[in-house]
Parts: sequence; C-alpha cells; structure tokens
Amino acid sequence: MAYYPFSKRPDTLVLTCLHVLDGADITTVCHHFNDNAWEFICGCENHTDEDAVVITVGELCEMDPSLHLLSDLPVGACALRPSRQHAWQRGKIEGEDFYPAAESRMQ
Ligand SMILES: [Zn+2]
Repeated sequence: MAYYPFSKRPDTLVLTCLHVLDGADITTVCHHFNDNAWEFICGCENHTDEDAVVITVGELCEMDPSLHLLSDLPVGACALRPSRQHAWQRGKIEGEDFYPAAESRMQ
C-alpha cells in the first residue's frame, strides 16, 4: 500500500460537492471541530444539500494530489486557495470570516 499521510484511512468518508466531481477545483478544505468531519468543496458561493456528495478521502487525493499537503490539518482548522494553481493558506473560519494562521505564507 502506498504511503498515506492522512491520519485517517484512505477509505474514510468525507464530504465534497458535485462541482468537484465535475472537475471544479477544490478551494476550501475544513476539518470540522464539532464532528471531526472533513469537507472538501469548490469555490461556489451557494452550496445546497443537493450538491453534497460523500466520497472517500483516498479518491479525492487521487483526483488532486495537492490535498496531501493538508493531511495534518488540525481539527477546527481550514485551508483556502483561490484555485488549484495557488498555494493553500491555512487558518480558521469563525462564523463567515476566515482568519489566516500567523505562520501561513504564500509560496
Ligand atoms: Zn461546489
């Protein structure tokens, strides 16, 4: 089995959106504090329940290997990027606002 940096198994179920399955860039990753769930979604402003898709984190990493960079994202943290061509910026989301982490820097 290939090296797998996520603390969870590659068959762990996570949330994504239909747009990502259609080829949209994943621009928001959240490791939710309340239920320890991972969410990997695109930059679409208005996600609805119908857009939600459950997928394994291993499948997502095959689609987008840069997700491996976030394998140590702590519970309660999020990472954002404008598009697949940009580096991830880590931080926290409180309410509607994103707070970049102090050590976060653009590459
Ligand atoms: Zn989406």
